[in-house]
Amino acid sequence: MKVVDVAVVGGGPAGSSAAREASERGLSVLLFDHAHPRRKACGGGLPVKGIEWMDAPEEAIEGHMTSISFTYKNTKLKVPVNKGKLIRRDDWDFYLYNRAKEAGAGHIAERVKSLENSSGNWVINDKYKAKYIIGADGVNGFTRRHFMEKISREHLFAAAGYYLSIKPIENEVEFILGALPGKEGYLWVFPKSDHYNIGYCYNAGTPGMKEALHKLMDERWPGEFIENGKWKLAENGEIVNCKQFGSAIPSYNDPELFDEPVSGSNWVLCGDAAGHVNPIHGEGLNHATLGGRLAAKAISKGDPTLFEKYWRSHYSRDMYRAAKTKHRIYRSVFMKLGFALGRTPALFGMLAELTRGEYEGKATSAFWFKLPMAVLQAMFFMKHKELKNTT
Ligand SMILES: Cc1cc2nc3c(=O)[nH]c(=O)nc-3n(C[C@H](O)[C@H](O)[C@H](O)COP(=O)(O)OP(=O)(O)OC[C@H]3O[C@@H](n4cnc5c(N)ncnc54)[C@H](O)[C@@H]3O)c2cc1C
Repeated sequence: MKVVDVAVVGGGPAGSSAAREASERGLSVLLFDHAHPRRKACGGGLPVKGIEWMDAPEEAIEGHMTSISFTYKNTKLKVPVNKGKLIRRDDWDFYLYNRAKEAGAGHIAERVKSLENSSGNWVINDKYKAKYIIGADGVNGFTRRHFMEKISREHLFAAAGYYLSIKPIENEVEFILGALPGKEGYLWVFPKSDHYNIGYCYNAGTPGMKEALHKLMDERWPGEFIENGKWKLAENGEIVNCKQFGSAIPSYNDPELFDEPVSGSNWVLCGDAAGHVNPIHGEGLNHATLGGRLAAKAISKGDPTLFEKYWRSHYSRDMYRAAKTKHRIYRSVFMKLGFALGRTPALFGMLAELTRGEYEGKATSAFWFKLPMAVLQAMFFMKHKELKNTT
């Protein structure tokens, strides 16, 4: 049995990016995934932050975001953007996966069920041998459970929703906060080429998530479910497809979890398997694609534990900060204050630049500097000029 340099378990964005990078760096690679082409449960929004990390050519794009909005009760903060992209997870993932194959990675259409270490090599499914393993098989997949503890429920978001077959009229990506007051999470409405991708993302076990989403649907597109996967519009009786999807997303509530190494002398985890998702909003595609490449880079240097240094230097700051502040951010009092201040002329510009990923400088110190003016403006209900026509 030939021993390859790297076996990559999982061909999602993390695994395909890792397999491609490892092949391009001259390593021999086997990429294991039993499921392609497949559609992973996802909103399919490529985060504005780190957009340059994600290889998404025009043919893999379903739409370009024209704005991102945050709504809390009657206040809507709508930020025009020109960077975010919307993709379909079947198309984009298959594209990334084929790029890995083109770069030279071999593909094994098998689910990895066993991993054993024998004479310094990994034996996979009793058949294949590799010197190193890259685990990229998603949240609490086989490799996560093999190399580390499972991510416990208290550190997971439950995310689910529907592909609602109504053609969007605008490429506005919406985050709706406060639908379940005080609960940690949000509802989303993402426009796709021929449907809306709508859903909820809350701490696993939060009561009322599904009902909150159904209430939003009924407000936006009044109607009812007539059978599984069909929504009947009240206005004209039209029946539209409304297929359900759902899964878990890592969402660490404790920054110390990010201190735990996700690599060893001959293995490394990346993407959701490593828990590398922003704990506040659950965006993970940027960290999965870059993380996969950094995992391959570490192995190409002969030391998978270098991954710890690499990922920390690229994207750990946001993750630690988000894990520290998640409990505070979603409190009702914070939401009320945040939205009242966020729409003022003093702070909206900064919020917009942060949303677009364009803010340069120290956001925290700038915030404290602008805060007194924002408080004054909020007391007089002043709004930034870009928000004049919104509620
Ligand atoms: C409902 C929902 C909405 C989301 N929306 C967004 C969003 O809009 N923007 C964003 O940035 N993030 C979003 N996320 C998070 C994002 O989907 C993940 O962070 C991302 O998919 C992680 O990529 P990955 O490659 O690590 O894992 P995955 O995408 O989960 O890929 C894992 C791959 O491993 C394969 N696999 C599993 N087990 C095995 C095995 N034993 N052997 C071989 N192969 C295996 C699977 O077939 C799969 O192809 C969302 C998540 C959910 C659940």
